[in-house]
Amino acid sequence: MKALKTLNPYFWKHKILLFWGLLFIIASNFFNIYKVQFVGKSVDELTKSGHLGFNRQVLIYVAIIVGCSLLTGFFTFMMRQTIIVASRRIEYELKNKIYRHYQDLSLTDYKQTTIGDLMNRLSEDVVAVRMYLGPGVMYVVNLLVLLIITSIYMIKTDVSMTLWTLLPLPVLSYLIFKVSSIINKKSKIMQKSQSAISTFVQDSFSGIRVVKFFAKEKYIEKNYGIKVSDYQNKALDLAKTEAYFFTIILFVIGLLNVAVILIGGQKYLAGELSVGKIADFFMYINILIWPFSLVGWVTSVNQRAEASMQRVNEFLDKKSEIVNTNFEEYPIIGNIEFRNVSYVYPNTGIKALDNLSFTVNAGESLAIMGKTGSGKSTIALLLCRLIDPTEGEILIDGKNLKEHNLNNYRKFIGYIPQESYLFSDSIENNIGFAIDNPSHEKVVEYAKIADVDKNIVEFKDQYKTMVGERGVMLSGGQKQRICIARALIKEPNIIIFDDSLSALDTETEQNILENIDRKIHNATSIIITHRESSAQRADKIINLTEIANSVTA
Ligand code: ADP
Ligand code: MG
Repeated sequence: MKALKTLNPYFWKHKILLFWGLLFIIASNFFNIYKVQFVGKSVDELTKSGHLGFNRQVLIYVAIIVGCSLLTGFFTFMMRQTIIVASRRIEYELKNKIYRHYQDLSLTDYKQTTIGDLMNRLSEDVVAVRMYLGPGVMYVVNLLVLLIITSIYMIKTDVSMTLWTLLPLPVLSYLIFKVSSIINKKSKIMQKSQSAISTFVQDSFSGIRVVKFFAKEKYIEKNYGIKVSDYQNKALDLAKTEAYFFTIILFVIGLLNVAVILIGGQKYLAGELSVGKIADFFMYINILIWPFSLVGWVTSVNQRAEASMQRVNEFLDKKSEIVNTNFEEYPIIGNIEFRNVSYVYPNTGIKALDNLSFTVNAGESLAIMGKTGSGKSTIALLLCRLIDPTEGEILIDGKNLKEHNLNNYRKFIGYIPQESYLFSDSIENNIGFAIDNPSHEKVVEYAKIADVDKNIVEFKDQYKTMVGERGVMLSGGQKQRICIARALIKEPNIIIFDDSLSALDTETEQNILENIDRKIHNATSIIITHRESSAQRADKIINLTEIANSVTA
């Protein structure tokens, strides 16, 4: 249980709540066990009096039993209120930590994990860990407390019978240990298979258009079927092992009951034990049965949590390649210099840029042209510091980009990626996404600059129109222009268009570029384009194909 140890600081943080939880566990178990002796006393009292009529003493015993039961219920409730609440809080903190880590990781870190895997870590793995935090820990502590309190009362009743009935417990513990390690192995295999399904589903839904166009539904369905039945086999295999587990425990508990009858019966005949005491013993054992039968479940919960926590830790331990060390706030003017910059994608080893140098002064525009795969988008990623150069340096306002405050820097750049991505939200929120508290007027103003306002007002819900998976279908050009508005509303000092005008006709493109010139004329702009006409507008042009790796423009 090494991975789960990393949760100890979280437990420590909620120690007060957990301490109360422990007190409530002790209290609830105490009252639950305390009442048992009064059952035996009632039986003996009734045996003594020889009739079932009104008996003052028995009535008092019954009142005590009812009172204790009520207290047990109350403290059980309080125990859940403290321990389960603490586990929910820790789950919340853990989820936030994982989510924050997602945001910190650089783009290349993302390329190494699949989306399905990421989703699994946030949902299933954290739920598995929470099961350990709450029920897992609660039942183990509960069982220990119960075992101690029950043993004390059993010994007080009869020492030798206690020994006989508790004797099988070490055997039981050994069996639990054995079978649970098998369960652990099998649950890991099952989780892997589950993750494979998520990845597959995510993939085929994202590419649903392609799937339909190639009429490959049957093929996808077949592959899905194979994956699901693989998961089913593994889940059934696990369930079978867990079933054996349960059977063993019930069998041992059955033996305990037989032991009470045999030994208790003989002691009664020898006059050493009253009927009431034997009744007490049955009660003790049956109170122990319930949590003991859960031992199997708790073990598997905790082992699943261990496997999940291991995966979560693996992820959290991954250090981001991009680290921010500067926290000052200052304006970025927009002078850009690439000095002998090379970039190699770590996952493929492809050298996308080789010894590239160029300068763009604040307020100037630079057009970047070149064949597909010549490294244009890589320049855009480097400029946004979504990746860091392998060699060479990028200077912004004369200072290495790595030494700038990244969050501050990104406030001043507007980046329109090659692939338009919109969130499943309203058009207004998508455009306003880039800034805090955007006003409607401002959103409209920038939609106009991006030349998309005229399309938006034609929709029934106008700016409240939902886009994305459950919303309207936008054309590629409309999406691009919404993305442009989103980037421009920040009023950036550096604007990067990564082929983001490609889905527009020449006239619209010219409109937008003119609007930008008019509205944000002092911004530095980097325009990656295929069109000669848009490149001509720029102050400088570099052609990555022609310069063949290293040329100063
Ligand atoms: P362009 O935008 O000019 O088409 P890119 O900058 O996207 O070119 O890509 C340059 C080269 O780097 C290409 O050979 C491409 O295959 C490779 N490349 C791009 N992105 C990645 C990535 N995430 N991982 C590995 N290789 C990549
Ligand atoms: Mg590109």
